[in-house]
Amino acid sequence: MRRLQATMGCHMPDAVLDQKATDELNLRLSVAFNTAVPFLLFGMALGQTSLVAVPVLFWWIMGLIGYSLVEYAFHRWILHGLVKHGHHLHHFEPFAPHAMPFCAGLCVHTLLLVILSLSLGLDLALCITLGSSTGYALYCQLHELIHRDPSLARRLVPRLHRHHMLHHRTGNASAGDACNYGVLTTFWDRLFATFRP
Ligand SMILES: [Zn+2]
Ligand SMILES: [Zn+2]
Repeated sequence: MRRLQATMGCHMPDAVLDQKATDELNLRLSVAFNTAVPFLLFGMALGQTSLVAVPVLFWWIMGLIGYSLVEYAFHRWILHGLVKHGHHLHHFEPFAPHAMPFCAGLCVHTLLLVILSLSLGLDLALCITLGSSTGYALYCQLHELIHRDPSLARRLVPRLHRHHMLHHRTGNASAGDACNYGVLTTFWDRLFATFRP
């Protein structure tokens, strides 16, 4: 810990450094866990599903599209509406390692798999959850890239990088006046008239 303080060239209290180290670990685990979930589900789907390739691809894409809508709605109406505090920290310190608890994505997708299995059967549930978890994994990787390596993000995904940075610049999470809520796609912002180029 002292070596970290020396590296940072400052004398932050140990409690603050401990919290930063915990946040950093949580972010790393979050990206790793959420990237692993679709691979896990893909392995399960290979062993379980009786569907052939075309329906699997169709329902996988439906899950991915469904995820992108949930991502937009959750960001716009929950993080900028009902539960502002944690997200306000991310807007205030966009380069700090603020993230949801690392197991949140795994828990949500396990719950989604169970609910969909009971209503649609295991085959469709696996394909849809695979699509949804792929979307969340891509979101985690992309959001991490935009904030932690902006120069690479500007080269790889210039439009999405600009889209999200404009969200940070124009939006005050506690005032609810932001634009560009989508991270993975600009589609829902264009559809719901919250897009700003
Ligand atoms: Zn952000
Ligand atoms: Zn926001």
